[in-house]
Amino acid sequence: MTPPGMSAAPIGGASAAGPVGVALLGATGSIGTSALRVLARQPDRFVPVALTANGNFAALQEQVARFSPAYAGLVQSCPDAPAAWGRGPDCLVAAATHPEAAIVINAVVGAAGLPATLAALRCGKRVALANKETLVVAGGIVTDTAREHGGELVPVDSEHSAILQCLAGRQPHEVRRLLLTASGGPFRTWPAERIATATRSDALKHPTWQMGSKITIDSATLANKALEVIEAHHLFGVPYDRIDVVVHPQSIIHSFVEFVDGSVLAQMGVPSMELPILYALTWPERVPDSGVPSFDPVALGGLTFEAVRHEQFPMLGLGIAAGRQGGAAPAVFNAANEEAVAQFLAGHLSFGGIAERVADALQELGGSSGDTLDALLAADAAARRHVRSRIVAEL
Ligand code: NAD
Ligand code: MG
Repeated sequence: MTPPGMSAAPIGGASAAGPVGVALLGATGSIGTSALRVLARQPDRFVPVALTANGNFAALQEQVARFSPAYAGLVQSCPDAPAAWGRGPDCLVAAATHPEAAIVINAVVGAAGLPATLAALRCGKRVALANKETLVVAGGIVTDTAREHGGELVPVDSEHSAILQCLAGRQPHEVRRLLLTASGGPFRTWPAERIATATRSDALKHPTWQMGSKITIDSATLANKALEVIEAHHLFGVPYDRIDVVVHPQSIIHSFVEFVDGSVLAQMGVPSMELPILYALTWPERVPDSGVPSFDPVALGGLTFEAVRHEQFPMLGLGIAAGRQGGAAPAVFNAANEEAVAQFLAGHLSFGGIAERVADALQELGGSSGDTLDALLAADAAARRHVRSRIVAEL
């Protein structure tokens, strides 16, 4: 079973035509810099041809000096940026459709990554997708676009990469259940009252992964796991009642697939995003030099599992319910969460306030139409306004 729109032709092999061109959106972030390390180790297979960043001019300038891509783009205006660089949000689409790029790694954070994913798929390219929000906001439209235009969506998210690896060669009717693992985040064992007033620095201390600030907060609320359940539903075409979540604090098993005969496969290894990034580029092939240390089960010690504490982490249930509801509800969940997390990081909202604002936005706007891309983008904008207006009203 493979995600919709995916052909099985490997494109990561060295070819007579030279290395495959890769556009990297969000090059200066956590996934972006990991991706550049992966690409730098595979010069015979891949070459970065386009790099974009949001506002970090200095970091992008250094990357451009090192990798000499054919295209560079900075979303925010910066007086020092060279005239040849692309500017504004359109630079993401320009990079994603660059003629020299066969693969687009989308490592942008948030719904801002959606237009570039769609543009790349319309050109029939492979999208190595870290930007899970793309599938949460418009999963049906994105997978339809991949199918219609022969584009490929290959997950970078470690859980979905694990599932893709476990599913290799299997048919949809052989799969009983997907079981996503969650680290549980920094508040896994905290009581609800303490979680509600957790500080920014408490929430930014992820126990097992080093990531950008938005996904780190999402991991603390478990919103990230809700986004991932919706992502898995769209990528693998599995209904919500056959996708479960289990807490696994060590983050060694990246996810499980249970098959109809009761057999369960897992993919495991020390937490590193470099392996799933490389696999998204070379799928279905495996190649050496992933940067991952050799597996030592004795050194890892015990692997443990716990049930999710839904009462203490309401964002997981809210997000899965939004996924089940469909229409614009997942887009509202995502946009309200993005806005609430930004407010929390800015010190304008308590940690417990994130789930309250998102629940409120879903109540007001979750039933909006999600039939077209315009309707979904309108719901996204309305949810952001809704959360913003509530917070301003309270100040
Ligand atoms: P990050 O904040 O470290 O980096 C985000 C990148 O996107 C930066 O290069 C930034 O310049 C760019 N960017 C931010 N806002 C933008 C905008 N509005 N327009 C264009 N570019 C913008 O985030 P990250 O941790 O690298 O995460 C990126 C994506 O990958 C997210 O969707 C996240 O959920 C997903 N992801 C991350 C990890 C991880 O380990 N970091 C793991 C799985 C999935
Ligand atoms: Mg993940």
